[in-house]
Amino acid sequence: MAFYLLISMFVGMLVIYKCISWQTQIPERKRKLKQSERLLVVIAHPDDECMFFGPLIVTAVRKWCLEDVFVLCCSIGNHYGMGDIRKRELVEACEILGVHRDNIKCIDDPALPDDPEVDWSQLRLRSLITDTISEWNPSVIATFDESGVSEHRNHRDLSRCLTAMQKNAAYCMKGRRLLVLDTVNSVRKYLQYIDIPITLYGDWDLITIVSRDHTGRIQRAMRCHASQMVWFRWLYIVFSRYMVVNTFREISKQNA
Ligand SMILES: [Zn+2]
Repeated sequence: MAFYLLISMFVGMLVIYKCISWQTQIPERKRKLKQSERLLVVIAHPDDECMFFGPLIVTAVRKWCLEDVFVLCCSIGNHYGMGDIRKRELVEACEILGVHRDNIKCIDDPALPDDPEVDWSQLRLRSLITDTISEWNPSVIATFDESGVSEHRNHRDLSRCLTAMQKNAAYCMKGRRLLVLDTVNSVRKYLQYIDIPITLYGDWDLITIVSRDHTGRIQRAMRCHASQMVWFRWLYIVFSRYMVVNTFREISKQNA
């Protein structure tokens, strides 16, 4: 038994080593943002930053050393009446990821309820995002793609709004990059490091892969969301590929 365990650990380490060496062969523009970039991550609920965008945020802060990383959370996650607690948990989790508390906004707006059955007001979202962009002046904006990773309606609404703003060349989007987080199928979603070789053969515009240390940091940040840590979330943080890798597609005016 111990022999097989050793062999599988050895194979695992070999796969990780190979992945890291493959990573260096990816063109720099697809694996790095410049230090001068200002990154805004737009999420729907407190805990999205850890569950889905952890590799991007940790890499941006600790590896690329970006000047500023911001998080705009468009609801307080009040579906079960725990909005105030979740708001506090968001700040604690972001600080572990490396985002300064002054760079976090968590919005409590009746037009943007935490509810998978409700469409968010696109008008309200657009106005909120426009105000946030004019305040923080990000050069790169990251959010969900049209499937929202988990198909949650609130996630998809964010994608719809930002994609439309980019497509219609909204004034506030001028000169800014919009990156949307790839949704993968539910088998790949739970393959953790095993999904990396599959991911590397995909088509994306930006990739972030994190080391074991940084995965540990993302998991620690996720544990700040104590109100959300029901049993299946523990499984999620152990097995999800979104704890170790993020890939993004760039939405430009042409392909939006
Ligand atoms: Zn969410």
